[in-house]
Amino acid sequence: MAYQVKTPWWLSHLVYPRLIWKMPASDEPTVYITFDDGPHPIATRYALDMMEQYHAKATFFCIGKNVVAHPELYSELLAKGHTTGNHTYNHLNGWKSKTKTYLENIHQASSHINSRIFRPPYGKIRRGQASRLLKASWKIYMWDVLSGDFDRNITGQQCAENVLKNIQPGSIIVFHDSEKAWERMSYALPQVLAYCKNKNWMLKALPKY
Ligand SMILES: [Zn+2]
Repeated sequence: MAYQVKTPWWLSHLVYPRLIWKMPASDEPTVYITFDDGPHPIATRYALDMMEQYHAKATFFCIGKNVVAHPELYSELLAKGHTTGNHTYNHLNGWKSKTKTYLENIHQASSHINSRIFRPPYGKIRRGQASRLLKASWKIYMWDVLSGDFDRNITGQQCAENVLKNIQPGSIIVFHDSEKAWERMSYALPQVLAYCKNKNWMLKALPKY
């Protein structure tokens, strides 16, 4: 599977400079863990418990239909002080979707996810789609470090190393609270949390604007 663990400079600065790839440095070194594709009864529950254990907050980019299937988990994310974002209703690939269909799918998810922050599924969004969202005051969060937890060809340990080798204050890290990623995410997440704690880095949710 072709993907870049560390977002290359040219992609964030030259191709998609208006999307958010990394957070600015702050006085308190801070890292932003994100989870895509939930809520999922096992994986989201685990993520919630781990974050609580480390007094950490995260951002969950939810799929609309999964929020409909697990409304209690979605409410719990908010009740525990995490931020939620929109990840479309059906996990649409922007490159393969007409702009109208894509935007309608996001709006459909909006009836269940009260948030104006968005992450495109697969990281694939066309310029026209992004422009329309930005014009409508959405913020689009990409990432700085991809754990690769969705990749069945790597181990949990490799997934943890993908993050630990690239993480810096300001990093936006991608994990998945999904069945597919479960084995690797559940192994790597505690290591990443322990590493950040050891460095005295804060773990915060992305601002919702
Ligand atoms: Zn996704």
